[in-house]
Amino acid sequence: MDAKLAALRQGYECSCGQTHHLSIGDIEVAYDVLARIPDKLRDLGFEGPVHLIADSNTLTAAGSKVADALRQAGFSVSETVFVTPDEALVPNEAALAKLFIEVPVTAEVLVAVGAGTITDLVRFAAYKMGKPFVSVPTAPSMDGYASAVSPLIVGGFKRTFSANPPRAIYADLDVLCRAPMWMIVAGFGDLVGKYTAKADWELSRIINNEYFCQSSLDLMAAALELCTSNPEGLTRREPQLIKGLMEGLILSGIAISMAGSSRPASGAEHQLAHYWEMRSLQENQHFHLHGTKVGVATPLVLGIYNKVLRFDPSTIDLNSLAESHQGPETVEAAVRAHYGSMADEILAESHGKRLTWSAREERVRLIQSKWEEIQRTLAWLPSAEVVTEMLTRAGAESSPESLGLPDEWVKDALTYARHLRSRYTVMDLAAELGI
Ligand SMILES: [Zn+2]
Ligand SMILES: [Zn+2]
Repeated sequence: MDAKLAALRQGYECSCGQTHHLSIGDIEVAYDVLARIPDKLRDLGFEGPVHLIADSNTLTAAGSKVADALRQAGFSVSETVFVTPDEALVPNEAALAKLFIEVPVTAEVLVAVGAGTITDLVRFAAYKMGKPFVSVPTAPSMDGYASAVSPLIVGGFKRTFSANPPRAIYADLDVLCRAPMWMIVAGFGDLVGKYTAKADWELSRIINNEYFCQSSLDLMAAALELCTSNPEGLTRREPQLIKGLMEGLILSGIAISMAGSSRPASGAEHQLAHYWEMRSLQENQHFHLHGTKVGVATPLVLGIYNKVLRFDPSTIDLNSLAESHQGPETVEAAVRAHYGSMADEILAESHGKRLTWSAREERVRLIQSKWEEIQRTLAWLPSAEVVTEMLTRAGAESSPESLGLPDEWVKDALTYARHLRSRYTVMDLAAELGI
C-alpha cells in the first residue's frame, strides 16, 4: 500500500485526464500503532487539546489505550463516549447533538475511535466545527474510513453529506484481528462488491462515454485478489488477510476521492443495498451492516450480468419491444406509487432513466453497436456462483434468505432500486434491452 500511496502523495497527472493527489497525511495499518499515536500527532503538527470519541465497545477495544498514551505524552484529552449497552449507535441528529455539546471549543483535533458509525459522525461534526480529525478504525467493516462524505440518518432517511477526509488513519492490527466476526465479514462483503462496481463503470464508459479512471480501480486490485483468493483466512483471523482487507477498504475510499465520485466503489450492488437500507429504516426493522447487504447483493447483480452477457442484442425485435415499452409517464407513476413521500426526490435524481420509445430505440441501437466491446471488456467478470462461494468460504451471508430479506424486498429492489440514483448500471442495461 505504501508504494501506491507515495506516488499519489506526490501528485500525478493520470491518463484519465485528472491530476490526482492524496490529502490524507499519514496512513498506517500495523501492530502497536496505538501507542505511537502521540508521536504521530506531533509529526502532523498537533500539540493542543485532543477530543477523543468512542462508544462503550471501541473505548475498551482501543480508545482507552489511545487516551492513556496521549495523556502520558503530555496531551490534554477530553472524551465523548456513546454508551451502547443494548442498541447500536445510530448516526442521527441526537448523536450529532451530543458531539456538538461535548466537544470543547478549544479542541485542536478530534480522534474518532470506532468503525463506520463513529467515523461518519465525527467526520461530519469535525467538518462543521472546522476542526481536523484522525481516524482510528476498530474493525475492517466498511470502506468509508478514507472517505470525504458522511452517510447520516436525518429525519429518518439516509442522506450523504459532504465533509473532509481524516488527516490520518491509524489502524492497529491487533485491534482489527479481534473485531467481531460479523464486522469483518461485512467488510469482505463491501470489498467483494467492487467486482460489480468496476463492471458497471466499464459498462458506462463504453456505452455512455462516462469519465473513467483505471488507476483508481488498480489501487484496490491487489487487496481484492489477496482476500478473495483465501477467504477462509478471514474466518481464522489471519493477520495478513485482515491487514489486506483493511488496506483494500481504505484504498477503496481513496479511489473514490481520485475519481471525484463513488463510481469506482459503488454500482448496482450498492443501489440494491441502499434500497434494503431505506426499506428497513421505513419499516423500523433491524438492519444489517452496510457491507453485509452489499455482499449479498453482489451475486444478484452478477446473476444479471451472467444473463445479459449471454444475450445477443442483435436478435431484438424492435417492433415487439416497442409494444411492451413503458413510457416516462407510466414509469413515473410506478415509481411514485412505490416510493410514496420520497418519490419527488427520487424522480428528480433519475430523470434520465425514464425514456420515450424513440430515446430507448436509440439506446438499443447504441448498445447493439457496442456489444462486441462490452463482451470483450467484461470477460474477466466472475460468475454469481463463484462469488457466492467466496462469501460462504469467508463465513459471510451470501443470499437474501440468509439475511432474512423477504422475497418481495428482493423483487422490488431489482425493479425499483435503479431509480434511486442517476448512475448507470447493468440493471439499466437489462431494462433498456428488455431482459
Ligand atoms: Zn460500500
Ligand atoms: Zn485517474
